[in-house]
Amino acid sequence: MSDLIRRDDAIYKFSHLDMQVYEGSTCVGIRTCLTKEEIIYAIDDIPTAEPERKNGKWSNYKDEHCCSVCKCVVISDCWNDEIRYDYCPYCGADMRGE
Ligand SMILES: [Zn+2]
Repeated sequence: MSDLIRRDDAIYKFSHLDMQVYEGSTCVGIRTCLTKEEIIYAIDDIPTAEPERKNGKWSNYKDEHCCSVCKCVVISDCWNDEIRYDYCPYCGADMRGE
């Protein structure tokens, strides 16, 4: 399952990532470019956020299953295989109380 991060936390993290450049033990400047590895490390270092979820239920809409919160229709192949989402893949509503 994917983790969620807050946009404000990501902006704060990246706006404070100026990298000091050293020659020996002397700081000679600030580097503002990041490598791919530094970006991945920075994103991984941002704390995860637990979203507030609405409770919803699956309802039928024209032979499809529809989220009661966002009204999005979920593709029928998932239902034919009896795979039921615990959360709406579009809005994240919790469907487990159904
Ligand atoms: Zn939804």
